[in-house]
Amino acid sequence: MKISVIGCGYLGAVHAAAMAKLGHDVVGVDTDPVKVAKLSAGEAPFHEPGLPELLTEGVRSGRLRFTTDIAQAGDARVHFLAVGTPQLSDSDGADLRFVDGAIDALRPILTPGSLVAGKSTVPVGTAATLAERIAETGAGLAWNPEFLREGFAVADTLTPDRIVYGVTDAAHAELLDEVYRVALDAGTPRITTDLPTAELVKTAANAFLATKISFINAMAEIAEVTGADVTTLADAIGHDARIGRRFLNAGIGFGGGCLPKDIRAFAARAEELGRAESVAFLRQVDAINLRRRERVIDLAVEMLGGSVFQKRIVVLGLTFKPDSDDVRDSPALDIAAQLHGLGAEVVATDPYGIENSRSRHPQLDYLEDVDDALRGAELAVLVTEWGEYRTLDAARTAELMAVPRMIDGRNALDTQAWKAAGFDYRGLGRS
Ligand code: NAD
Repeated sequence: MKISVIGCGYLGAVHAAAMAKLGHDVVGVDTDPVKVAKLSAGEAPFHEPGLPELLTEGVRSGRLRFTTDIAQAGDARVHFLAVGTPQLSDSDGADLRFVDGAIDALRPILTPGSLVAGKSTVPVGTAATLAERIAETGAGLAWNPEFLREGFAVADTLTPDRIVYGVTDAAHAELLDEVYRVALDAGTPRITTDLPTAELVKTAANAFLATKISFINAMAEIAEVTGADVTTLADAIGHDARIGRRFLNAGIGFGGGCLPKDIRAFAARAEELGRAESVAFLRQVDAINLRRRERVIDLAVEMLGGSVFQKRIVVLGLTFKPDSDDVRDSPALDIAAQLHGLGAEVVATDPYGIENSRSRHPQLDYLEDVDDALRGAELAVLVTEWGEYRTLDAARTAELMAVPRMIDGRNALDTQAWKAAGFDYRGLGRS
């Protein structure tokens, strides 16, 4: 099927490449010419495992191309909308200007019988408004939220754990069934519903995940004042199948281009709907999450004798999670910037996140080599659990550092091994 993907960022580029892999004829449209040039050459404009291979294969096959010219998407039967919906700069609500811009650009090329399928995460009620705006073209509108995880985006797109469509017409669901035929034939559950439910499914999923993380981080706060160990607690409650162990890792909390802005946008939308109290807990979820960053700063000050001023601190990790170069709302980068703001001599390192971090925080010192970064540091702060930091040798790290001190912001290291190597080791919520 001829398909277009409007917006080729973390979501759209993977979606476009995956659709080509499934045999569709795909044109990806983005307003950023640098991104389009890279994608057209089969190169990923960001770090995502497996994406370069998928892009190269798609571009070589002739089934995948990228352009800044939306007119080239005119013959597509389904237009996937994958533009960003960041937080507004002056409030918690979602900034829908990219969605509106994409719809304005699409309108002149939409034809009767074609379908716009929204994948961006939007406040509930947005899809119905967009459907009205394109009604006169004869094209339909569906909402098809995306659940991919950065770092696993290729697998999540090719073999999703569920597919959700919000539709107003059964024919639109049939068209999407054609797009997702391979996954559906493999038994992927498909839920067909109305537009507001489809929008809310995504918002609710992210709200739930954020709540689960903040729940265990709240337990970490209690553990810290009682001498309890949050990791053991998580293991113990996680054995209950109703609770489950996943997303129960206490640490510096969540970040990235989705969870923080999505829970804030949800709370803001609930207020508009007169139901602020229904999701008022999300304000607490956000507050708990941000407090974990402060906890790391407080620990650093305490471990360094009351001040971090002019102390060399190595920050291990900058991205919001491993296997991504995404530093949007990253707690790791925020902690590095806060320590620098307090006068510490921060040296930050990350396998893939330095370039994106430097453009946001040029004041920080960045070193690519982990040994160089560790050398002479009086404190190490592990804030993104990349494999190379999880497997650091404690004794060797102690030799490189001026003083062996470690804040394990992800509870990713073996406490006993690091203590045995002479480290003043602190995890979060750990006895
Ligand atoms: P992103 O910022 O990486 O990508 C958005 C892209 O849209 C950019 O490349 C931008 O240049 C492009 N764009 C903006 N206006 C355009 C227009 N008018 N025409 C064409 N292109 C345009 O964002 P992202 O992380 O890919 O997220 C996109 C949406 O998907 C958001 O709503 C996000 O919440 C949602 N989402 C993201 C993920 C994720 O893991 N990143 C997962 C699920 C859902």
